[in-house]
Amino acid sequence: LSQITETFSESVIREMTRICDEAGGYNLSQGFPDFESPKAVQEAAIRAIQAGFNQYPVTFGEPELREAISRKVREYNHIECNPKTDITVTCGATEAMIATLKALINPGDEIIIFEPFYENYGPDSILSGATPRYVTLYGPDWHYLAEELAAAFNEKTKAIIINTPNNPTGKVFSKEELAEIAALCIKWDTYAVADEIYEHILYDGTRHVSIASLPGMAERTITINSISKTYSVTGWRVGWAIAAPEITKRIRKVHDFFTVGAPTPLQHAAAEAMTYGPEYYEGLKNHYGEARNFVLDALRQAGFKCELPQGAYYVLTDASDVMARLGITDDTAFSRKLIELTGVATVPGSSFYADKTKGSRQVRFCFCKKWETLKHVAQVLTTKL
Ligand code: GLN
Repeated sequence: LSQITETFSESVIREMTRICDEAGGYNLSQGFPDFESPKAVQEAAIRAIQAGFNQYPVTFGEPELREAISRKVREYNHIECNPKTDITVTCGATEAMIATLKALINPGDEIIIFEPFYENYGPDSILSGATPRYVTLYGPDWHYLAEELAAAFNEKTKAIIINTPNNPTGKVFSKEELAEIAALCIKWDTYAVADEIYEHILYDGTRHVSIASLPGMAERTITINSISKTYSVTGWRVGWAIAAPEITKRIRKVHDFFTVGAPTPLQHAAAEAMTYGPEYYEGLKNHYGEARNFVLDALRQAGFKCELPQGAYYVLTDASDVMARLGITDDTAFSRKLIELTGVATVPGSSFYADKTKGSRQVRFCFCKKWETLKHVAQVLTTKL
């Protein structure tokens, strides 16, 4: 059996969902909503199936969806892209990320990853053959140190992954930070791989900036996104990568042999969803903003230390006090104990670090849940711990 598959473990995030389902618990582990996606989006999918869009799509994406993506990013992200040559539609942002890395990496190449990081980036680096170099995001505000970032770049650096708004920290990279990263990318002739899946989930007036829109970056940035989080359809598996034609050609080849295409009818429904205007995004923001404030209050009352995230729908908490109260010293044991005591599933902090000891006092809560769930969770966390 393949030795490479021995070097990483299965996803802890998705494992926690299975454990939670078995226990009949409240899933605040994996980032997906427990409320319905917009009715109009569902109806668009049903119409597409009934209209006969049931065979293979154009491998790299149905033209309608690529056009919708191109229009949307021009308007919202200030990215100019040609739908014919610069977009690959993939099975979720997950495939877009691994296909991008497969398209960029040669043996010996390094990639820079901010830590804590979304779990997939670890196995993505291994599977693409890249050597990861980690740059620490320091809590509670999750800043990086300019000198540490600069020191991570060298002649072997092929790419830097920037996930903004960030999972699991909720950090939103500022325009100044992105300009600093961009200058390093240009200096070292490095690609930027921007995972912007939470771009519409922002709080307190925070603004999202796409690094591809900064001067000199369009040709060296691969922008990854998906409809999963914005339209609450994480099971549809429709995402994309936007990149210059020479990069796109390679991403398309990898994608073709990985999966052939993302679900055809759902691509058509996605094209319709992407025509929704600013009011839809506002509604999403407002709902998650209230959910964030409510959950953070409850977590603090229960003894978790955490700052308000600026974006995305996660909070990575310092659980040391609660863990000490329960006499537990390890995040994985703590997550399991939490399900047992309260029925609430979380993600152990170590899943977001290469050096597992760093997250051993942390757990991540996801708050993209309906009010009923959040109220119940608040009640059990504040009374049962
Ligand atoms: N991004 C989600 C999370 O961190 C999970 C996405 C996935 O499981 N593919 O929970």
